[in-house]
Amino acid sequence: MPQHHKDVIVIGAGISGLVCAYRLKTLGVDVALLEKSARVGGVIHSERIDGFLIERGPNSSQGTEELVALVEELGVTDELVEGDPKAPAYVYFTGRLHAVPSGAGAFIKSKLLSFAGKLRIFKEPFVRVRRSEAEESVASFARRRIGREAAERMVAPFVSGIYAGDAEQLSVQAAFPKLANLETGYGGLFRGTFAKALEARRARKSASAVLDKAAPTRRRLCSFKDGMAFLPQTIASKLGEDLLTGCEELRIADRGSRIEATLPDHAPENPQSTGFSVEFERAGRNHKLTCNRLVIATPAKTAATVVAGVSDHLSHLLNEIEYPPLAIVSLAYDESTIATHLDGFGFLAPPSQGLNILGCVWNSSLFPDRAPRGQALITAFVGGALNPRAARAADSELVAIAHGELQKVLGISSDPQVVAITRYERSIPQYNLGHFARVQRIESLLRDLPGLRLIGNYLHGVSTGDCIKDADRVAREVRSWRAASS
Ligand SMILES: Cc1cc2nc3c(=O)[nH]c(=O)nc-3n(C[C@H](O)[C@H](O)[C@H](O)COP(=O)(O)OP(=O)(O)OC[C@H]3O[C@@H](n4cnc5c(N)ncnc54)[C@H](O)[C@@H]3O)c2cc1C
Repeated sequence: MPQHHKDVIVIGAGISGLVCAYRLKTLGVDVALLEKSARVGGVIHSERIDGFLIERGPNSSQGTEELVALVEELGVTDELVEGDPKAPAYVYFTGRLHAVPSGAGAFIKSKLLSFAGKLRIFKEPFVRVRRSEAEESVASFARRRIGREAAERMVAPFVSGIYAGDAEQLSVQAAFPKLANLETGYGGLFRGTFAKALEARRARKSASAVLDKAAPTRRRLCSFKDGMAFLPQTIASKLGEDLLTGCEELRIADRGSRIEATLPDHAPENPQSTGFSVEFERAGRNHKLTCNRLVIATPAKTAATVVAGVSDHLSHLLNEIEYPPLAIVSLAYDESTIATHLDGFGFLAPPSQGLNILGCVWNSSLFPDRAPRGQALITAFVGGALNPRAARAADSELVAIAHGELQKVLGISSDPQVVAITRYERSIPQYNLGHFARVQRIESLLRDLPGLRLIGNYLHGVSTGDCIKDADRVAREVRSWRAASS
């Protein structure tokens, strides 16, 4: 590294750290991004094995405006692949797969809910608004607004799919803030959805819509020809020598760590005076960098150890965030041996249905070139907050669980080719009850620590799109501090 002082050091090259460092660089800030692993992308990890393109982390991302804009800016729009907008997601219920209804007609015909269950949903506009300030679980919110059946059969499986979480524990205010706002801001889900659609239509008609037309169009489910990891790899290539991977001894996690985060003066009224020194080992050599601003883009537990010397309270709040274990089993089958036509995204299983798998993604149906011709690639997820023990089963047991349950649900008559098994002891942060308040407290403590920022999937949304949005926002904020102090 040519210089020993940087304006900003970002630690952790998952999508959050990469986007933050990239944005800082494009804004003219002298930045270094330090990553402990030899690989960038964090949990975003695609790999080609025996002609299969497997995903060890996210299989896809919602095509949010921020993601599409970033992809355009990077000049790689041609590499995007989009899932078929008509491809359904299924829910496994009472021994069969039900397509999640995507319109009124399909909803009425669907057998996922009973007649009474459907009627209960239509009563939603007449449900009173909850007045309590306390956080409410996703399950309780769903039961209250759309009834027990829909909560169990439509909401709980999606909670497993997104968070590998427990709907009884997840906070609707933290995990699904837009949903919670439909009630508090508009009086209910139906009312809010209609009001928002009207607002959007008016906005499109207004004069500013002329400018908005330049905004990228959202897409449905997206990935890249070479898998999700293409995005972090592309950003890494733009960072060039400002990215250092393999900072192996950058042990923030342990006491006596080789990274020191020192705040010589962290008086809030004097933001110019902060400074940090970061020590680490790379390729057998010790390095020391200093910087004015530090952005920690690691998982919460690691961030907790970095800030421990500065704020015990902040460190404690970060340590409280739970990440359940999860195992991902990538299995391949000869297509002709699968009785079910794999025409969609995959299926999710409500916890009440007694499966060990949370659900699965039908990779080779969702995106092109995921498997050799005639083969189907299926990714099954095992474990999560409701079944942590299953995630820790031995490889052979994991395969038996995943294959046995897929065989039963999809009608498979052959043995699988086991393409890969991926394990996370700590997978997706759980936005459980109290998380909304916790994040507010974290933000307020950070305001007293100028020069230090935290980003990552444990703060303002777990999805790839949310991480991109937040990392970009924080980069602009850090840039403005620098502008103010220079
Ligand atoms: C199994 C799984 C499936 C998912 N599926 C989807 C999906 O389908 N769609 C979707 O939108 N989202 C999905 N997500 C969520 C989303 O992809 C992640 O939330 C997001 O990628 C997290 O990015 P991050 O940069 O915040 O954290 P991470 O990816 O965890 O990156 C943190 C980085 O910090 C580094 N680091 C850690 N310690 C240190 C240290 N001491 N020094 C230096 N570096 C360090 C790590 O090596 C890593 O590179 C999924 C997540 C998981 C785990």
